Amino acid sequence: MSHPVHKNNAELGLKVHKHLVSKGLETPITDKVLSNNDEKIDSIIPHFEKIMEILGLDLTDDSLEDTPKRVAKMYVNEIFWGLDYTKFPKCTAIENKMDYRNSFVCEKNVNVQSNCEHHFVVIDGVATVAYIPHKKVLGLSKLNRIVEFFAKRPQVQERLTEQICETISFIAETDDVAVYIDAQHYCVKSRGIQDTGSSTVTLSSRGKFAAPDSEVRREFLNIARMGK
Ligand SMILES: [Zn+2]
Repeated sequence: MSHPVHKNNAELGLKVHKHLVSKGLETPITDKVLSNNDEKIDSIIPHFEKIMEILGLDLTDDSLEDTPKRVAKMYVNEIFWGLDYTKFPKCTAIENKMDYRNSFVCEKNVNVQSNCEHHFVVIDGVATVAYIPHKKVLGLSKLNRIVEFFAKRPQVQERLTEQICETISFIAETDDVAVYIDAQHYCVKSRGIQDTGSSTVTLSSRGKFAAPDSEVRREFLNIARMGK
């Protein structure tokens, strides 16, 4: 699926980027990047052709000839568009008029389709995301959008979890946030130790969710671990 056609907020994206840099949680990215997506695709094609040639593949075969272009398009438009902060989702928040005390908003079974930055192969999992609104309430779909944005770049699961948690805390202006991700790494499944059954669990929590004996933490973890 290519970059979804929801509304973007490049200005908010830039603020999120600066915030993550200040917290030491940003993905190692440089500003030496082409700004135009078509230019990025055109530049990647010959490099991927070279990789295929070196592997001994015949690029004149009609099944293979368009692969470099398909891969380049997939990198830029489909699986790594979350490197581009101009595509950051619009996250409208409304004023909170309720006292949530210790009750929280939770979005469960959010799809996590990412790629590991060490091997460029699939990370496939689900996230559970929760926060206690203070002054602001985010639309529920915004939680999914934030997960999706950070998943669409080369990732390590620990940093992905932290980036989502810190970004929700920043945008919703609340310290009380938790993110739980359970995912399979295809670099573990299909290469290396070839363990097909294992999954990786990561948790990032702030505020009330981080206190070891807190009720909200216990409830959140119960929900996250319950499965579908
Ligand atoms: Zn890997």
